[in-house]
Amino acid sequence: MATTQNQEMAAIPCPYCEQETTISVPDGDVELEVRRSVALYGDHTTVECSAGHRFWVYFC
Ligand SMILES: [Zn+2]
Repeated sequence: MATTQNQEMAAIPCPYCEQETTISVPDGDVELEVRRSVALYGDHTTVECSAGHRFWVYFC
């Protein structure tokens, strides 16, 4: 039997063009922080919006 993973999703507005991009987050309880550059701490994910802007979302 197949099991479906219940993944939390969040819509993040791109800091450049404000277009919302949906990302998966590890925990629905975390606070998301959008950054335009990469930092060397914490859990994060790299996001690319549909216009090709790349930014980083940190899970606080
Ligand atoms: Zn963008």
